[in-house]
Amino acid sequence: MDGMTLSDVVLATNGTFYGDKKDLQKEITGITIDSRQVEEGNLFIAIKGERVDGHDFIPAIRNAGAVASVCERQPDSGMEPYVLVDSTLQAIKDIARYYRSNMPVKVIGVSGSVGKTSAKEMIASVLSEKHYVLKTIGNFNNEIGMPLTLFRLTREHEAAVVEMGISDFGEMHRLSQIARPDICVITNIGQCHLDKLGDRDGVYRAKSEMFEFLPRDGIIILNGDDDILSRAAMINGIRPLFFGLGHQNDIYAENIVPQGLEKIYFEIVIPSKNERFRVELNQPGRHMIYNALAAAAVGMSLGLKSEQIKRGIEKNEKVKGRVNIIQTDKWTIIDDCYNANPVSMKASLDLLAEASGRKVAILGDMLELGKDEEILHKEVGSYLAEKGIDLLLCSGRLSRQTYEGAGDGLSKYYFETREEMMRKIPVLLKPTDTILIKASHGMHFEKIVLMLETDC
Ligand code: ATP
Ligand code: MG
Repeated sequence: MDGMTLSDVVLATNGTFYGDKKDLQKEITGITIDSRQVEEGNLFIAIKGERVDGHDFIPAIRNAGAVASVCERQPDSGMEPYVLVDSTLQAIKDIARYYRSNMPVKVIGVSGSVGKTSAKEMIASVLSEKHYVLKTIGNFNNEIGMPLTLFRLTREHEAAVVEMGISDFGEMHRLSQIARPDICVITNIGQCHLDKLGDRDGVYRAKSEMFEFLPRDGIIILNGDDDILSRAAMINGIRPLFFGLGHQNDIYAENIVPQGLEKIYFEIVIPSKNERFRVELNQPGRHMIYNALAAAAVGMSLGLKSEQIKRGIEKNEKVKGRVNIIQTDKWTIIDDCYNANPVSMKASLDLLAEASGRKVAILGDMLELGKDEEILHKEVGSYLAEKGIDLLLCSGRLSRQTYEGAGDGLSKYYFETREEMMRKIPVLLKPTDTILIKASHGMHFEKIVLMLETDC
């Protein structure tokens, strides 16, 4: 954080300052909501969470060297300086908005139903070949996480790659008002959060709130293979730049050669520049090509050379906790049980289809899909059958539809509960199988991964 004083905090939040007036000119070195992370000169914002209330830690953060706190409840006397506001959740957004508006940095906002974190990492890796880049840490993509990312900006940063995640209308409007992206990237429009957004058109409408704060010379980068995104011919007078596998896109990939579950090779083509270059990606899955193309599009827009784009893509490291390939003595496990929705489910089935030997899918329910939940599960079933998956094991109420949709061309088993399935798994699997394990986080399929990794 650079050049932000307590006086700026009062201005940004419209709060009331308590303390010695000369403290108002104190510079803030950083902002945190976690009392354990307070460092010398930090501003602490007290957030009331479900389990803990930040207000309880105001005495502790003073001892840790915090410069002041922002709170919505008057603390005990002697806790000055502090800024009292109506809502600290709002204050965090107000301060981020104020701070960002004073930072002359290019912000790249990354949204989409699936692949935000993976694309964000790839974009940051590419831009780092030329610029000093800030990126969202991990998955901090909501109305608290995104401001915390922006607070880490300094005057040295030339670009900030910021993940923006939403689950309802209005959220992207608020996030964009804070981050004011100069470049908007949307990876795809999938069936996520349909309980709030209704259908994919609703998902698109919610995501396009992102464009409301784009400057006139702003850039929009969209997945041109996505049927909804590809319809966006002109947005607020801006012609989007499209990426994808289709040759109609402004940036596309061809000559794709998967290298088992390890790597994937392909060429990136940029017809307008008459450029073509080969990329060796150390991460499996065709979906990663889309993330590489999105990164190439951002790189091209910011004037990077092909060699820099190539280097950035090849250097990018796998996002931890997602598609994890585990090799045991007996089998290869594709552990992707962090979350699931139809788009990522199909991406992982594509990856499983690349495996040699018997292909086994152990699938559970995809949650929060709204009224079409059964149809969407059925579609996953027919998709995996088309992909030549040999054995399907599934459990969960909705996965009954996955089972039905898979038809009769493969071996398949349905179990009411995960526990029951886990009891049968040892007899159904064979050595050398490649096994995809995927479900929404709430299904706790990580327990299956653990079982297969250890004593099964
Ligand atoms: P979240 O909403 O949890 O933040 P996210 O949008 O950040 O998710 P990632 O964490 O990047 O998404 O990826 C989630 C999973 O989706 C990955 O494990 C992978 O299976 C798949 N995936 C990644 N990128 C893409 C993509 N561009 N298209 C389709 N699937 C993808
Ligand atoms: Mg993410």
